[in-house]
Amino acid sequence: MNTMLKAALSQIKDVSPILADDYPDKKRFKKAINELLTPQRFIERKISIKDKDGKKREFNAFRIQHNDARGPFKGGIRFHRNVSKDEVQALATLMSLKCAVTGIPYGGGKGGVMVDPSKLTKEELKDLSTEYAKFVTPYIGPWKDVPAPDVNTDGVIMSWMLEAYEKKVGVQAPATFTGKPLELGGSLGRTEATGQGGVFVLEAYLRRNLKLKINASKVTIAIQGFGNVGYYFAKIAKENGFRVVAVSDSSSGIYNPKGLEINTLSLFKQKGGSFKNYPLKAGTKLITNAELLGLPVTVLVPAALENSITKDNVEDISAKVVFEMANGPTTSEADRYLHEKGIDVIPDILSNSGGVTVSYFEWVQNLSGYYWTKERVNEELKKTITKAFTDIDKIVKEKRISYRRAANYLSVKRIIDAMMLRGRA
Ligand code: NAD
Repeated sequence: MNTMLKAALSQIKDVSPILADDYPDKKRFKKAINELLTPQRFIERKISIKDKDGKKREFNAFRIQHNDARGPFKGGIRFHRNVSKDEVQALATLMSLKCAVTGIPYGGGKGGVMVDPSKLTKEELKDLSTEYAKFVTPYIGPWKDVPAPDVNTDGVIMSWMLEAYEKKVGVQAPATFTGKPLELGGSLGRTEATGQGGVFVLEAYLRRNLKLKINASKVTIAIQGFGNVGYYFAKIAKENGFRVVAVSDSSSGIYNPKGLEINTLSLFKQKGGSFKNYPLKAGTKLITNAELLGLPVTVLVPAALENSITKDNVEDISAKVVFEMANGPTTSEADRYLHEKGIDVIPDILSNSGGVTVSYFEWVQNLSGYYWTKERVNEELKKTITKAFTDIDKIVKEKRISYRRAANYLSVKRIIDAMMLRGRA
């Protein structure tokens, strides 16, 4: 079992002792927990395409459906050479937790192909996407399993997959995939949804915990990563009056204690620049990613990679709160240390759930055939994600546990309750 799968399963095991008190029938409870430790369905096959020289090439492909007690399976499809069955299972399990904590009516799933897509031509990538969609067609659909983009897949790939799926089933079914381009039924607001959702959670957290005694401009933010998630978090936080003092890419960090010009940084990145070559103005300096993690800010936002806060660097952290916008950025040892030090960690399954929430809105729009304005998408996102935060915050205060344990407690409870109502446990 790889470490990622171990970590995903430990999220469930860790809360099972506190959950046990809620279920008098211990036998049923144990059965439910055991079921959650194994996915409902593993689908694995070699899929093949002909490469540009006409040679057959095979790839391992997976779809793992973790639990659908709360609704259709939902989760992305990843194209990466390190994709493994354990990794896909871990991600499918975390999707069940994420959908449950947000309160959206889905279970968790995930898919992947072991491939380095940078080595494929566009035609080969299209063929691979089409073959993958044909492979999973019997198992997916608007009321069965709804895939979406993930690492190295995007709206173009979803469009090819939708076409292959609809050809096989013979009907238009845009609600089978989310993350589609607007022209094929995608939702307004999806591109920035993860960053936007994170800022809504931040605002709710500050209202609840620092009671906005400090006004927004005094709240300083350092963000590791400046891709889709980091950039939109920075942009929207700044638009809402917060002071973003540091951002980074894989090459370097940029720091200005008075606040950064996010639009200028973004234009520089759009032209293909690396921050290590950023033309610095007075007051702004280059820092390393390690230095960024140790900045004396109100909010530290890891928005790049998994395992970036570890036992080796956690003692440097002096932020008041860590907002996990990347998936799994804090190792469990580092997480324990931060909890003991009284630094809140707002867990990924809550703080980065804006993306899957707007994917849910896309599905709702596709099923009804009626499309929302961006204002409505953001209004609904704010309502949904703020409620999720409030539900978790209540458990934090009542049970005196960390935000991560409270989020896991709530999500596992919601899934178990649905399983029991269905008579599965
Ligand atoms: P992205 O590829 O657009 O951006 C990643 C950023 O991280 C880039 O700026 C890159 O330079 C930076 N980076 C890479 N290695 C780094 C390193 N060693 N140190 C510092 N920075 C580094 O990816 P993204 O879509 O922004 O996703 C970021 C994280 O958020 C991932 O963990 C992803 O799984 C998670 N996430 C993304 C979404 C979404 O909607 N895009 C939703 C939920 C979670």
